[in-house]
Amino acid sequence: MKKYTGRSVYGGIAIGRITVFKRQEIFVKRTHVADTEHELQRVEAAKEQALGQLRAVYEKALREVGETNAQIFEIHMMMLEDEDYNESIRNIIESQSVNAEYAIAATSDNFTEMFSSMEDAYMQARAADVCDISNRMLRNLHTDSGEQMMHDEKVIICADDLAPSETVLLDKEKVLAFVTAHGSSNSHTAILARNMNIPAIIGVGDTFMKEINNGDEAIVDGFTGEIFINPDTETLQQLLEKQRSDEKKKKLLQELKGKENVTLDGTQINIYANIGSVENIGAVLLNDAGGIGLFRSEFLYLESKDFPTEEQQFAVYKKVLESMAGKKVIIRTMDIGADKQVDYFGLKKEENPAMGYRAIRICLTRPEIFRTQLRALYRASAYGNLGIMFPMITSTAELQQILEICDTVRSELRGEGAEISETVELGVMIETPAAAIISDLLAPMVDFFSVGTNDLTQYTLACDRQNPEIEPFCDTHHEAILRLISMSAENAHKHGAWIGICGELAADTSLTETFLRMGIDELSVSPSFVLKVRETVRGIDLSE
Ligand code: PEP
Ligand code: MG
Repeated sequence: MKKYTGRSVYGGIAIGRITVFKRQEIFVKRTHVADTEHELQRVEAAKEQALGQLRAVYEKALREVGETNAQIFEIHMMMLEDEDYNESIRNIIESQSVNAEYAIAATSDNFTEMFSSMEDAYMQARAADVCDISNRMLRNLHTDSGEQMMHDEKVIICADDLAPSETVLLDKEKVLAFVTAHGSSNSHTAILARNMNIPAIIGVGDTFMKEINNGDEAIVDGFTGEIFINPDTETLQQLLEKQRSDEKKKKLLQELKGKENVTLDGTQINIYANIGSVENIGAVLLNDAGGIGLFRSEFLYLESKDFPTEEQQFAVYKKVLESMAGKKVIIRTMDIGADKQVDYFGLKKEENPAMGYRAIRICLTRPEIFRTQLRALYRASAYGNLGIMFPMITSTAELQQILEICDTVRSELRGEGAEISETVELGVMIETPAAAIISDLLAPMVDFFSVGTNDLTQYTLACDRQNPEIEPFCDTHHEAILRLISMSAENAHKHGAWIGICGELAADTSLTETFLRMGIDELSVSPSFVLKVRETVRGIDLSE
């Protein structure tokens, strides 16, 4: 038996086999060939194989997710047959006498560059498609292809690190736990694990990745941050016992379902849940959350291969609102950028992406993306109790511009005869120190604030939330953070707005009393933390 230790990001015990997550990176070498005809035949064979694969994926997608979502694979098939694309590959092989792999990779780079530099967002998004089809061909040429995760049993996913875009694409039904060699507790992958209710450990180190093998038996202890490989009987027994006791505790918490979120002296608070997709709604209802305090809508973009259309977004928002049956649902407009990268947005590489072109900054400079999302949101508003909030706000001018766009979208929809709710609340996230400091100016302009403590912490303490080395400096209970929250609460209430917290700190029960004393009206946490926070609230006496 071997034991490795990292940091826990979500508790729970998982027992199963390891699957090492492999990125399919393809390294292409340029080699001279004498027989160019042979290379052309190899390209043709890889292309035929790719067409067959895409046809199969298209049909599967058509059955499972409908025609609109399946269309992308049809586009890929068309691109594979594109004359310019094929001619470029042929020319490179014949004129330079080089291998098929190099010709495909070079063509892919040239076409990607060309699409990325186009003005039109739709054309820019095609850059990712060229990359996709070229990589598919390269994989087909590659002798070790097909090394994919194809398991029927649930597995423990081990990776050096996982980007949010990789995590969302994993088949959640098959994941028992996540273990990564690197990563930080406030990264979106950690947040996803919490939302998915999956034991997760980060920062176990590089040796771990070198020493484990696919199929190794393992136990993940998400409470202590330990992972045991090929555990002995004694460890297995101990952890099985721990698993049983954890389940018992969870069952006890279930008794709090249906009870009020009220302190001993009668102060009420709303406890809502954070979600990243429609799939999380089951957990929201199961844990008796009073509403959804943060729907990270960008995951919809991360799960797509192209900009989700108004219809696709409308269908998702409507489903969430209908499932919540009149309970509050706060949907945050997309927060793409920083660690949440999507190829088809064609974003440039940045030195400091967290302080760069992300969230509302993209929305305000690429209004067609923002308007599509707002139209979908307002149309869906007729199906429930919607609130819309805007991320990364730093000024009243930004907010003014947003409110004007919302007005235009509403009038436009009314003009089209669309049914929209008249009571959609609008709010801003307080996740930059600037927003907290000018919260007295922002509050009169909105219905609510929601404090994003993850970003507020990184920007206030100058601690990159993606960098695990900085974690020791990142004191989430820092007086500066607490003062900014308290100040925002005071300003919100002065101007008749309400205030919630939706960052990970909302689930930190050692601060629940502090938040209640500040007058926080709502705490929004991962679904599985709702009852724990309720239990804490019910034990607090603010009159003491
Ligand atoms: C936050 O910053 O606290 C927040 C809730 O947003 P995200 O974690 O998605 O950046
Ligand atoms: Mg944030």
